[in-house]
Amino acid sequence: MIVAKFGGTSVSSKGSVLTLCNIVANELGRQPVVVVSALKGVTDLLLSLSTLPENKIEKKIREIRKIHKNLIVSLWNDKRLQSETFLYINSKLNEILQLIMKAEPGREFLDKLVSFGEIMSSYIITRALESKGMKAEQVISTDLIVTNNNFGSAEFLVESTKRKTQKILTPLVKTGVVPVVTGFIGATRSGQTTTLGRGGSDYTASIVGYCLKAEEIQIWTDVDGVFTADPRLVKNARSLPIVSFKEASELAAFGARVLHSRTIRPAISAGIPVRVLNTFNPKNHGTLIVEKSRASGKAKAVSFKRKIILVNIYSTEMLRQKGFLAKIFKVFANNNISIDLVSVSEVSVSVSVDDKKNLEMAVKELAEFSHVSVIEDMGMVSLIGEDITSSTKTIRRVFEILDKEKVLARMVSLSAANINISIVVESDKVEKAVKALHDKLLLK
Ligand code: ASP
Ligand code: MG
Repeated sequence: MIVAKFGGTSVSSKGSVLTLCNIVANELGRQPVVVVSALKGVTDLLLSLSTLPENKIEKKIREIRKIHKNLIVSLWNDKRLQSETFLYINSKLNEILQLIMKAEPGREFLDKLVSFGEIMSSYIITRALESKGMKAEQVISTDLIVTNNNFGSAEFLVESTKRKTQKILTPLVKTGVVPVVTGFIGATRSGQTTTLGRGGSDYTASIVGYCLKAEEIQIWTDVDGVFTADPRLVKNARSLPIVSFKEASELAAFGARVLHSRTIRPAISAGIPVRVLNTFNPKNHGTLIVEKSRASGKAKAVSFKRKIILVNIYSTEMLRQKGFLAKIFKVFANNNISIDLVSVSEVSVSVSVDDKKNLEMAVKELAEFSHVSVIEDMGMVSLIGEDITSSTKTIRRVFEILDKEKVLARMVSLSAANINISIVVESDKVEKAVKALHDKLLLK
């Protein structure tokens, strides 16, 4: 059994839907379960409905209708299939209208509202697979994924989700039916619709794969997998054939937006390989994410963040003190500020944050017991690879390259987890540093 998840762009055009059908047809021998996102842009449109004045709602709904209608019309010549599918979409759009009329505003309402995106897309994809001669069945994941009440970013409950998922999906795949599961949505124990957070369809795929002990999870998207660097900045970046879960998580945290680490954790924890593939270039090897890849001490990828703020805290009070760091971190925590990097000496602490929000207040509080300076407009460059900090050669090369480019490291962090080297540099040096490190360390 495998799980194949198709993201928004992969279900939005005739070409990509036909590719999807081919991919599924080729995998029939491995009992595929399909998971789909909403059509591209639909989740945002649905969310926007919640804030519109009544007289603007009709127009937005027409927009959503048009996106689905265009796809339906382009997919098939069969008029009956077209009108049946369109009828379904229309009935859902009516339900949406009803919901908006009578619902109380709030997170519960929003989750119910956005869930329609995946409900509509999964119907179209089911019909598309059938039109290619496959047996397929739409499965609304409120019947599979049981979650807590954390609307908007719900967490799944392992045992009940496992039970329901196996009970519903196993008989389908065993009889040669391809389940087409809505991504992104679940339901509380009492049956209220929840969502798993933006981009949550990957999470759905991972949860379903975990519950069914799938042999592989495929995430079909619109890029060739996980890259050595952001290809928008680094033209010669290439996709990595294999990365470890830790590397993938680190890359996600440091700006590469392919997969969120939370979303693939269930799969990885069960030892299920996750493959990121490109619907628009299906022959590309993509990127395989596994629990552990062979550690080499080499850098695999470079990522970056702009708009980093460096906070330097200096105090002689710190000398041989106990609990001083706790005192500092408490200030950040109390002000709801998340810290990225930390570097400590006997009398000073530097931290980097990526959000100015609440910082002023925190600085005020810190200044009550230390000298504080804030340097804005910094950037962070991170090199990622298993065991990277255990290679003296890699570390030496990093600083040689920065030296050659005349980029000064304002703060350095070598993770003890051995997985990243992060360097804070002036914002306008980020690009130069990323390109140089990429070309000299990664292109070999
Ligand atoms: N449609 C949802 C979103 O846009 C979930 C997903 O695509 O993964 O966030
Ligand atoms: Mg998406």
